[in-house]
Amino acid sequence: MIFVAGPFMWLAMSSFPTRLLEGYQSFMSGRYTAERNRYRDLAEAGQEPHTLVIACCDSRAAPETVFDCGPGELFVVRNVANLVPPYAPDGNFHSTSAALEFAVQSLKIRQIVVLGHGRCGGIKAALDVDAAPLSPGDFIGQWMGLLKPAAQQIKDSVLLTSGERQFALEHISIRNSIANLRTFPCVKILEDRGKMALHGAWFDISTGELWVMNSQTGDFSRPETSLA
Ligand SMILES: [Zn+2]
Repeated sequence: MIFVAGPFMWLAMSSFPTRLLEGYQSFMSGRYTAERNRYRDLAEAGQEPHTLVIACCDSRAAPETVFDCGPGELFVVRNVANLVPPYAPDGNFHSTSAALEFAVQSLKIRQIVVLGHGRCGGIKAALDVDAAPLSPGDFIGQWMGLLKPAAQQIKDSVLLTSGERQFALEHISIRNSIANLRTFPCVKILEDRGKMALHGAWFDISTGELWVMNSQTGDFSRPETSLA
């Protein structure tokens, strides 16, 4: 690694990750070649994704992989623990809200999936309220504060094991995100008119199972159409 003095900062110059360059080569000779026309059509006509997916940043639970979707199918926003903050037009920086606004108002997406997953580090952090912040900014602690009331109740339950607490909060976080989606007028109005569908799903990274939320009860179960 070479450090070069710039006018305002030190720039770290290092070679681009080899693994990514190799992956890109593979992509170009494989998938891009096979789907060249689709990419060209998408470039010329613009994207028209059928679903907005709100998922966790976790490297093991990529929505495009889990749902085996091609380019242009999913509009994806990822954040720690797949949370949706409540509607708050307060002038602050709201990346998830911005993506939601674009998906619904510009792309006219009419189905949203909140995708949670097992062994979520963000959920673990929410339950471990006594842990020291990872940095002075404690951005994770602040972000996971969106789940604080639920996390505290679960943490207080002596009837649950730590694994059960984690499992429960992973599911609750999905329901909580869906509830917060409904605080956005653009979502609520469309849903009330029957023109917007909100879904929850949970991916078990250890088994590959997908659990889908029942929109009436909020319970999660494996879909009957499962091909496993
Ligand atoms: Zn996660």
